[in-house]
Amino acid sequence: MIRADQHRCVLFDVDGTIAETEGHAHLPAFNQALEEAGLDWRWTTADYKRLLKTTGGFERLLRFAAESGHDAEALREQLAQVHKNKNRHFAAIMASGAVAPRAGFRELVMHLARQNIGWGVVTTTSRGNWDALWTYSLAPLGLPSPEVIVCGEDVAAKKPDPEAYLLALKRLDMTATECCAIEDSRNGLLAARTADLEVAIVRSEFFADERFDEAARVVDELYFLQ
Ligand SMILES: [Mg+2]
Repeated sequence: MIRADQHRCVLFDVDGTIAETEGHAHLPAFNQALEEAGLDWRWTTADYKRLLKTTGGFERLLRFAAESGHDAEALREQLAQVHKNKNRHFAAIMASGAVAPRAGFRELVMHLARQNIGWGVVTTTSRGNWDALWTYSLAPLGLPSPEVIVCGEDVAAKKPDPEAYLLALKRLDMTATECCAIEDSRNGLLAARTADLEVAIVRSEFFADERFDEAARVVDELYFLQ
């Protein structure tokens, strides 16, 4: 799918695509922050799988509040604080070295670099989460720096809205056909496809059973995209 004679930059989603951050870092960080706030909510893996249909950590907290019979609006301020604390816990988990990139990620980026194809990051997670992954898990691998980084704070609408991908193309000054995207979720796939990008799906822990009909390829590991 990735063609050296055509593609100039491969845009990677972060959570689930570059690293299995959801189960190893985001979920435990949410539970730590909820406990700290004195809220009697504990999310299981099954809860989290369902909640991941909502993109954005704060939005996920609001959805859970509403679904479990709480007044989400009344809790808005408290949940904003929970989300802040959650991201602090996430950074601490990342700093502990608990989350490595997925198998084949480093090799794929190096393979692209050898063909003069760059890479970029298009995520609607918070920039602090990306910074933690980059600092503790990716930068030590000696990778070339990404050519573009779009995070949740850069856009008004999260995936599946195409805004993050459209902004990345604008910043790169490239067309959709000069780039392609690698995603692990249906929301991410729809965001990239709506921006006219060709998409490869790498199946991840939390989204493996979603529908990926619009993808050009679906693989189990990043190795297969070399
Ligand atoms: Mg993802």
